[in-house]
Amino acid sequence: MTTLTISQASCADDYDPNSMPVDKARAFIHQFLAPVTATLRVPIRSALGRVLAEDVISPVDVPAHRNSAMDGWAMRAADLKGEGETTLQEVGASFAGKPFMGTVKAGECVRIMTGGVVPAGADTVVMQERAKAHGRSITFSGSNKAGQNVREAGEDLTAGSVALRRGRIVRPAELGLIASLGIGEVSVYRPLRVAYFSTGDELKSIGTALGEGEIYDSNRYTLHGMLTRLGCEALDMGVIRDDPKALETAFREAAANADVVITSGGVSVGEADFVKDMMAKLGEVVFWKIAMKPGRPLAYGKIGAAHFFGLPGNPVSVMVTFYQFARDALLRLMGASPVEPLPTFTATCTARLKKAPGRTEFQRGILARAPDGSLAVRPTGEQGSGILKSMSDANCFIILGDKVGNVEPGTAVEVQLLEGIV
Ligand code: AMP
Ligand code: MG
Repeated sequence: MTTLTISQASCADDYDPNSMPVDKARAFIHQFLAPVTATLRVPIRSALGRVLAEDVISPVDVPAHRNSAMDGWAMRAADLKGEGETTLQEVGASFAGKPFMGTVKAGECVRIMTGGVVPAGADTVVMQERAKAHGRSITFSGSNKAGQNVREAGEDLTAGSVALRRGRIVRPAELGLIASLGIGEVSVYRPLRVAYFSTGDELKSIGTALGEGEIYDSNRYTLHGMLTRLGCEALDMGVIRDDPKALETAFREAAANADVVITSGGVSVGEADFVKDMMAKLGEVVFWKIAMKPGRPLAYGKIGAAHFFGLPGNPVSVMVTFYQFARDALLRLMGASPVEPLPTFTATCTARLKKAPGRTEFQRGILARAPDGSLAVRPTGEQGSGILKSMSDANCFIILGDKVGNVEPGTAVEVQLLEGIV
């Protein structure tokens, strides 16, 4: 358990907060992420998207019986010629759920369907495509090996072994796996409570007319979507004016009611100063200028027991910093383990990209198969950090590392998908 405080860690850090590399900021945040501990037992369907708080131990062998992987006939391997034809007498059938109760003797075979129990005496299955039936005389051909097409009991899991480890996020495959063990309830971590609000005098909520220079608040909607998708309990605290008193009240209320507080806006140069003063009073927060685009200003810290992420105000910056910093941190706090970094791929960029070395850029792209089958990516057009349409049109980030400069068409670039299959 780390007892390191944020101020100790930031002093020990030899990086300039005014030019913080993306990886370094991630690693810094990582030091303070102790997962929730409270758990609850839920029926397995309700566990979808939640994190397992205990190992799931298999109470049974999976599969429970030695069974056939094919439709065909079961027999003794010793009766089959390795090559050439063999004729055996069919003495019964073993269908899924309706086993053959006898023993297969020399010269005999049993009709068997996929999932059917391999009867006593038999050890091998020949698939029906390699058999010809004349009444009860079945002739097998082709080359056959002892034990083929037989799934052994306990081949997937033996009784008493760990089917799923604590920390695993329950997806459809896990639901099915748990159900296959006959388990109806599992222990999961309680949901992570994340309170969020937008800051800015120019922000209006939907349903109110806009005055001169005012805009509708969109960040609370993207945050609602991203937090809900991740499996967090999202607590919307509305829009807070750029007023120290109102902000202080909001921060105190959020920190008292949630595990994590996320805000957007108010951390950029000029605005950060009074927020900094306030944070010095409420908790311990570091303010960074991350060497990235979009999403340069970012604050991270603790307000009481709550973690705090101060995201920039620009709508695209909010999404990029959420995915690149908050996502992994929230998963860890939710109890997920291991938290794998989002996978990246290499694709050929088909357009010219403007890029300055010295920072990581997360441009928004469309990844697709080129006619030759290779992966190709193109940017979604205008890449301004306020242009949410560039995110909406995208299916991936094009990640251009610190050292990279302008990208010419035909260059290989790193991409990261915005959506997963599950
Ligand atoms: P800030 O970081 O507060 O200086 O905001 C940077 C830019 O993002 C400004 O143009 C703000 O108007 C805009 N912005 C801030 N918060 C929001 C929000 N919740 N929804 C839409 N735009 C926002
Ligand atoms: Mg603002």
